[in-house]
Amino acid sequence: MNYSDIFKTSINKLKIEGRYRHFNEIERKVGEHPNASWITNSKKNDVIIWCSNDYLGMSQNKLVINSMINSIKKMGTGSGGTRNISGNSSSIVHLENEIANLHSKEKAIVFSSGYVANESTISTLLNLLKDVVVFSDEKNHASIISGIKKSKASKEIFKHNDLNHLEALIKKYPEKKPKVIIFESIYSMDGDFGDISGISKIAKKYKALTYLDEVHAVGMYGNKGSGVTEELGLQNSIDIIQGTLGKAFGTMGGYIASSNVICDAIRSYASGFIFTTALPPALLSAARTSICYLKKSDKERKLQQKNTITLKTYLKKENINFMDNKSHIVPIMVNNPVRCKEISNILLNEFKHYIQPINYPTVPVGTERLRITPGPFHTEKMISDLTIALKYAFKKTEKDNYSKIA
Ligand SMILES: *Cc1c(COP(=O)(O)O)cnc(C)c1O
Repeated sequence: MNYSDIFKTSINKLKIEGRYRHFNEIERKVGEHPNASWITNSKKNDVIIWCSNDYLGMSQNKLVINSMINSIKKMGTGSGGTRNISGNSSSIVHLENEIANLHSKEKAIVFSSGYVANESTISTLLNLLKDVVVFSDEKNHASIISGIKKSKASKEIFKHNDLNHLEALIKKYPEKKPKVIIFESIYSMDGDFGDISGISKIAKKYKALTYLDEVHAVGMYGNKGSGVTEELGLQNSIDIIQGTLGKAFGTMGGYIASSNVICDAIRSYASGFIFTTALPPALLSAARTSICYLKKSDKERKLQQKNTITLKTYLKKENINFMDNKSHIVPIMVNNPVRCKEISNILLNEFKHYIQPINYPTVPVGTERLRITPGPFHTEKMISDLTIALKYAFKKTEKDNYSKIA
């Protein structure tokens, strides 16, 4: 048995399909976001990052940084244990109170990441509900799909944001059968909004629980930055809100916010919550500082939104094809994995604009794209330079024959 041949064949398959992942080494610089260094052949090059999920640059916010440093000086680096065995720091208790307040829920619980929050909560929730059926939007994130797969629940996948399809599926089931609907408020790769109002009406009619991933919206939407539900005044119509501390809040970790009884049940049964070391106090203090800051300051959100509009205006002027959604995510469609990588390489090597290509399985085959997330600190000059570079890269790759792969 030649084990390494098996692995090599799997890797080669990705290379042939043009979706072998290359990780760029990036060194970020405090106070200079979105400027950073890209390290290649042991050389440092100045680049501009256009694909960061540190949407508002909060990972370089002075208050957030100081909060982390002070907390380390006071309490050290690690939490020292699981939540149950000595790792339940006051930082995590305070943060959970802050998150519950942010989402106007009774309680919140924090996980190691947004991925873990989804996977553990969903699998545990579905198993606790026993004879349950789960209704999941077809565009839901990998962590949601994994949580559903880990459970024993029967599942129905509804067409993306399609209320008629959802209702057709849900009404097949008896009223007594437990039901959960899982969807997202902003879909990460298309940047479109889930129909929170429509879906929660269906949930009410058929007595289903609702689970909403607000990962891309927390910090970004609503007056206090608590997400799209806040912006629409729909916080009460969602039973479980899930979020991350790793994107707009600029730190790391994930959470759910819900009723006391649901949080208590998940806390008590979710193995991904129980059997792992609690996040370090410094990270949690920094996350709390970031949340508190963005509750009061909407300067970053406003600038971010302005820059998104500016970018879209420039792209339209130059006829560059993008998905014109209403969110902060600007997907530039290339629709071929090899060309997408090529354009990304040209942008980086010739213009020092860093945008990672997005391939299958993150997006469907044939919809490969460059996902741009303009931040508050990109300037109009940067945006106009990027547009010119994009135009050039599209033109340069126009005549190449990519049809074999597409
Ligand atoms: C990034 C992401 C997650 C996972 O959050 P992390 O904190 O990065 O683990 C969950 N859901 C969606 C939609 C995401 O894009």
